[in-house]
Amino acid sequence: MTNVPGTTTAEIKANKATRCEPEAVALKSFFLGPQSENAVWLQSTISNLLVKWFDWRQARQVEDGRAISSKDQASPEFKKQRNNMVEVLNELSTRFEDEVPKYSPRYVGHMFSEVALPAILGHVAALLHNPNTISGESARVGVQIENEAIEELLKMVGYSTTDATGHFTSGGTVANFEAVSRARARSALWMASGAAFAELRGTIPNPCQDAMMGWEAFDLQQAEMNSMNHAWQARLNAWNFENIGMHRFLILLKEIFGVDLDHPVMLVPSHKHYSWQKAAKLFGFGDETMKLVRLDSRGRMDVAHLRERIKQATNHGHPVMMVVSVAGTTELGIVDPIEEACAVVKEHGFIWHHVDGAYGGFFAAMGQDKGSGISEEVMEAMSAIPASDSITIDPHKLGYVPYSAGVFMVAQKINYSLVAIDAPYIQYSEADHGPVTLEGSRSATGSAATWMVAKTIGLTPKGFGQILARNVQARHVLQFELSKTIIPTRVVQTTDSNVLCFVLAREGESLSVVNARTRELHRSMSKSSSKFIVSTTTLRWQHYSALCERFSGSWGAACDVHEIVLIRMCLLNPFFLSKETATFYPEAFVREVNDIVDIECL
Ligand SMILES: *Cc1c(COP(=O)(O)O)cnc(C)c1O
Repeated sequence: MTNVPGTTTAEIKANKATRCEPEAVALKSFFLGPQSENAVWLQSTISNLLVKWFDWRQARQVEDGRAISSKDQASPEFKKQRNNMVEVLNELSTRFEDEVPKYSPRYVGHMFSEVALPAILGHVAALLHNPNTISGESARVGVQIENEAIEELLKMVGYSTTDATGHFTSGGTVANFEAVSRARARSALWMASGAAFAELRGTIPNPCQDAMMGWEAFDLQQAEMNSMNHAWQARLNAWNFENIGMHRFLILLKEIFGVDLDHPVMLVPSHKHYSWQKAAKLFGFGDETMKLVRLDSRGRMDVAHLRERIKQATNHGHPVMMVVSVAGTTELGIVDPIEEACAVVKEHGFIWHHVDGAYGGFFAAMGQDKGSGISEEVMEAMSAIPASDSITIDPHKLGYVPYSAGVFMVAQKINYSLVAIDAPYIQYSEADHGPVTLEGSRSATGSAATWMVAKTIGLTPKGFGQILARNVQARHVLQFELSKTIIPTRVVQTTDSNVLCFVLAREGESLSVVNARTRELHRSMSKSSSKFIVSTTTLRWQHYSALCERFSGSWGAACDVHEIVLIRMCLLNPFFLSKETATFYPEAFVREVNDIVDIECL
C-alpha cells in the first residue's frame, strides 16, 4: 500500500489551520462527539420524542379516564418505589461507566465505535412503540419500516428492489444461518426432483449435478412429471432429504438406483467467521461438510482453488450446497475477489453463492467512482454483489447502528420463500416475513435505526461513503505514522479497508520473539490505564499459509512457531482524524506504542 496523497500527518497538520469542507462539517451533526458536543440537541430531540409519544397515548380513549391519580403519585408508598427505581437505575448507570468506552476515538479495537445519532433516535422511537416484526398483527408500522429499510440496503448493494427481498436478524451469525437454511432447502428440492424424475422415467439420477440444476430445469421436470403422474408432488416430498433425512436419502439412492452419494458440502474460505462452523454443526452436517478454500498471499480467497474444490467435491459424490465469499473479513478486513468467485460458480451451474458482508457490506455505499476512497480492486469486488444469491450485512458494525441489527437479503424472491413454515395462530399478510425467518419475535429497533441512517446520512457515496472513506484514510495515516516507530512496524498488507494489523519486528527476529512482544503490547494496552484500546488476533499457517509466509518473510523471520500474533485495529471512529481536537490521535497512538515498547526494552 502506498501513501495516498493528502494522508500524511504533515499534510493533515498543514490542513489543520484550514477549515473543514462544509460537507465534512455537516457530517459532524450525525454523531454526539467525543465530549458530548451535540448533547443539548440530542437531549431536546429525545425529550420531544417522548412528549410526542405521551401525547399520542393521551389522545386516545380520553373517555376512559386516568388510572393513576395525582393523589396516588403523592402517596408515600408510591414515592418510595419511585425513589427506589431511581436508586437502582443510578446503580446500573454507574456500573455501566466501567463499560468499554466504545464512543472514544481512542477505542480502536473491535468492529464497533460511536453509534450515529439518527440510529439512536430511530432505535428509541421503535423501542417506545415496541413493534414485533413477526407480522403485521404485532407491527402495523414496524413491518413497513423494516421493508423500507431493506429497500434502501438493496439499492446500496445493487440488488433489484423488485426481484430481491430480505429481513433484519439479530446479527450476522443468524443472517448467515438464513443463507444456509435456504441453500440447503434448494439443493434438497432440486436433488429430490432429479431422483423422482429418474424414478418415473426409469433412468439413473446424477444428484451432484441435480443439486445445481437451476429453476428452469426444475420447472421443465416439474411440467413433464405433472403430465405423467398426478402423485408427482408426493414423490417429490418422498425424495426430499429435508423430509426424510439425509441418511434415508442416501440409502434410497443406493437401493433404488445403485447411486453412491456422499453428504453435501459448503465451500468456505479459510478466513471464515466462526459462524460458519456453528452453521455446519447446527444444520446437522458436521465440520466435515465445510470444505475450506485456500487463501492467496494477501489473504483473499484463491479462486483457482475454489474451482478445484468444486470439481473435487462433485467427483467424489459430494453435492455442492453453497459457496461463500467474504466482503470484509473479521480478522483483517479482507475483501475477497467476489467477481471472480461469481464467475467460477457460474462455470458449474446454479450453486448458491452467498456473500458474507457482515462487516464490509457497507463499503458498497462508497459507490463505483474512482477516488471514492477505496481501491479499485475492492470496488470491483463490491460491484459483483448483484450477481450473488444472497448477502449478510450487519448494520451494528459499519452501519453505526446499536445492537442488535443484522440483515439477510436474497437476490431472487423464489429463493427466499423456500423455507416457509406457517403458524395457525398468526395471520400473515404479503408484507410479513414471519413465515420465513429463523427467528420468531423480532424487534423493529434495528430496522428503524437503519431506516433513520438511510434517510438522513444516506447510504450513498456522498453520505455514508464519506464516513467510510475517512475510516480507510485513517488506516493509511496510521500506517504512515507507525512507520516512524523505533522498532520497525510491519503492517499486514491485504485489500483496502479500515482494519489495520501490525507487529513490531526487527530484521531477522524469530516469530516467537515477535509474538511475545505483540502479546505484551496487547496486554499493556488492555489495562484500564491504557490510553488506547486495541484488539489482537492470531494468524495460523493452517489457514493463512501464503500470507504468513509472505508476511514473516518481509523481515526474514525465523519461523520457529507456526502462527503470527497481530495487534488488530478496527478504525471506525468518525473523529479519529479530527483536525479540531487538541490530540491528533494517530500520532498519540504511536507515541503510546513507543512508550510501552521502550519501557519493556529497559
Ligand atoms: C461479525 C461477523 C459475523 C457475525 O456477525 P454477528 O453480528 O456478530 O453475529 C459474520 N461474518 C463476518 C464476516 C463478521 O465479521
